[in-house]
Amino acid sequence: MSKSPVLQLNNGVEMPALGFGVFQSRPEETVDAVTEAIAVGYRLIDTAAVYRNEAEVGQAITQCGIDRSEIFVTTKAWISDYGFDQTLHAFDRSMRKLGLDQLDLYLLHWPVPNDFDRTLESWRALERLLAEGRTRAIGVSNFSPAHLEKLMARFEVVPALNQVELHPFFGQKPLVEAHRRHGIVTQAWSPIGGITRYRAKEGETPHDPLAHPTVTALADKYGKTPAQVVLRWHIERGFSAIPKSVRASRIAENFDLFDFSLSADEVAAIDAMDTGVRGGSDPEKVDTEFYSFRIED
Ligand code: NDP
Repeated sequence: MSKSPVLQLNNGVEMPALGFGVFQSRPEETVDAVTEAIAVGYRLIDTAAVYRNEAEVGQAITQCGIDRSEIFVTTKAWISDYGFDQTLHAFDRSMRKLGLDQLDLYLLHWPVPNDFDRTLESWRALERLLAEGRTRAIGVSNFSPAHLEKLMARFEVVPALNQVELHPFFGQKPLVEAHRRHGIVTQAWSPIGGITRYRAKEGETPHDPLAHPTVTALADKYGKTPAQVVLRWHIERGFSAIPKSVRASRIAENFDLFDFSLSADEVAAIDAMDTGVRGGSDPEKVDTEFYSFRIED
């Protein structure tokens, strides 16, 4: 069975570069999807309190027959649970739903720029959880370079990772450079451009990186699919990527990347597809009115 390369986080913890995402996987689909993913070789599963499928992710991990220590599990604190005590409570709730004793990576799901002190109070909670060994690493998601700077000016622990929208149409160059300077791993959400398809407005042709001629030509050249070419690009760039699917054939397809590689020129050709336009929400606008969901206990 093929294996993902491993990335080392800034506290020495090792994490598979290629993982499996479950955003929009309905609870009734999630056990099978995660079970299938583990069976074909994924060892990193990315969920979040707000995906409402932590219990199913945990069930699949508990039942899969692979030692818990071989599977890297990420979940995220939702913005309505920000604040020191609230985030500690949210962590306990997620762990209860997952049915796990220790987490591998806990993330703040979004910055809340108009109440950033509260976001930072949550970071203080994450530092506590890390010090107590309840999670092996802590990080953030959807932070800009300025958000990272503000956090690092106040706190001891540098985030191990920042999980952000990143695909060939949105390359996040300045952010990736900031991560490199600070030793923060870049993890790509919507790595194969999911957001450009499921967020496309009705009647609008989706702006899909998988249909771009640079990608389809490389897919033809290597006898791989467009998704495999784009995921291989993430690996060549040193990113972590967490593609999502609920279909067994695509779950296997998205992990079958380790029998080919892209040249530096081919990587640069995909880099050149960057439009600078994000498909998802602007982190500057996120707060509890923008996203009004709350998490039940
Ligand atoms: P992806 O780029 O992973 O794309 C997923 C979409 O593409 C789904 O609609 C899936 O449909 C389809 N798909 C999967 N494989 C293929 C394939 N080989 N060829 C063509 N289509 C395919 O987007 P996501 O937005 O889901 O991002 C991945 C993960 O990142 C999420 O699941 C989540 O864990 C995380 N994430 C984090 C966010 C954050 O704010 N931190 C925000 C968004 C995502 P189907 O399932 O039907 O196969």
